[in-house]
Amino acid sequence: MSDASNNSDSDEQKDRVNKRSSTSGSATGPPNKTSKSWYQQPFNNNWLQEPELKDWIEADSKDKYIVRCKVCDCSLSNINKSSLLTYKMTQKHVKNFELKQQMTNIKTFFTTTKPPSLREQVAKAELLLVAFMAEHNIPFSQADHLVEVMKKMFPDSNVAKYIQMKRTKSSYVMQDGIAREEKEDITKICQNNKFSLIIDESTDISITQILAVVVRYYDEKKCQVVDVFLIVLRLKIQLQKDCIIR
Ligand SMILES: [Zn+2]
Repeated sequence: MSDASNNSDSDEQKDRVNKRSSTSGSATGPPNKTSKSWYQQPFNNNWLQEPELKDWIEADSKDKYIVRCKVCDCSLSNINKSSLLTYKMTQKHVKNFELKQQMTNIKTFFTTTKPPSLREQVAKAELLLVAFMAEHNIPFSQADHLVEVMKKMFPDSNVAKYIQMKRTKSSYVMQDGIAREEKEDITKICQNNKFSLIIDESTDISITQILAVVVRYYDEKKCQVVDVFLIVLRLKIQLQKDCIIR
């Protein structure tokens, strides 16, 4: 590491020769008591690679002869590497640095900085696709074609490239994934809240008697009464009209 600044700055540096006594806010005392003047050093970008400096210094946008301390939120003038290292050991800076680190530790409890992996992104896309098809009554058999079209539509997408979602997997993901999770959630709600059941019997195309069960309850998050579909039961006997299930 060298404290020398860029050569391109040398002319300007000569213009910025200062008397030590005439400056204020210096990071440290005079580097050498015998010298009466010295060259001001501009911010050196190499410092941002220095392990002892990179965490807390930044350049000043207006004055290149100033170093900003991010920890104490203050400006330092008359800087060079050794003066910065001396400043780093001051009581004020050490204390602020410790406080800042504690704050950062607390923050990590609330934020997850890790971006989702490709595998997670693909899984999310597959779930969204199946949920979309179910919500809009699109037959799962269409998944075979839809996924192929999407791969052609988004050739630059890694997620589209790895989506594998044909009709068999679609119905599996819906029945054993999304629907099972939903059913468990609704069951838990019913265990802890007052609710009513709405049932409707009908006959499907294979002449099977089916009974749709819908749960009505008060959703505390939405602050309103909601109806959610719970299950379809296959019936062995036909229910009497106006029969009440208790
Ligand atoms: Zn500081």
